[in-house]
Amino acid sequence: MALRTIRISGDPVLTRKCREVKEMTPRLAELIDDMFETMYEENGVGLAAPQVGILKRICVIDTTGETPLVLINPVITEKDGEQTGDEGCLSLPGKAAPVTRPMHVVVEALDREMKPVRLEGEELLARAMCHEIDHLDGHMYTEFAVGPVHDVVYEEEEEEQEEEA
Ligand code: ZN
Repeated sequence: MALRTIRISGDPVLTRKCREVKEMTPRLAELIDDMFETMYEENGVGLAAPQVGILKRICVIDTTGETPLVLINPVITEKDGEQTGDEGCLSLPGKAAPVTRPMHVVVEALDREMKPVRLEGEELLARAMCHEIDHLDGHMYTEFAVGPVHDVVYEEEEEEQEEEA
């Protein structure tokens, strides 16, 4: 496993639409491992392949530190409710802005064995799923912000609670 370089907002790779994954390969399996390692290293709760420069429909999410999820070719099939709160992104370090997202989503995707899975997300997980899937279509959360993008300074003891994705 290895850390990958996170692309920063302004990099054109973050505005491109990603391609579907047709089959798992050793190279993609390594990419997924590297994405998890990079996400945990940066205290993120999610990371999408284009954020490390790969235009494939793959995201990794872990909102608890103990529930790693791999989403390949994910599609949101149900949305309910609404939540508005600050969101951050590893591709826009030190910034956050309020975004309105569904409170509950259902996502259909493939897991790392390319088996179909149906995942439900509430609250932060629903937010992370929407945020990461947006990356696969070339969108940053700032496009959907309902308030100003502002600076965020995390205290050392709060680092575990960062919600950058
Ligand atoms: Zn992001």
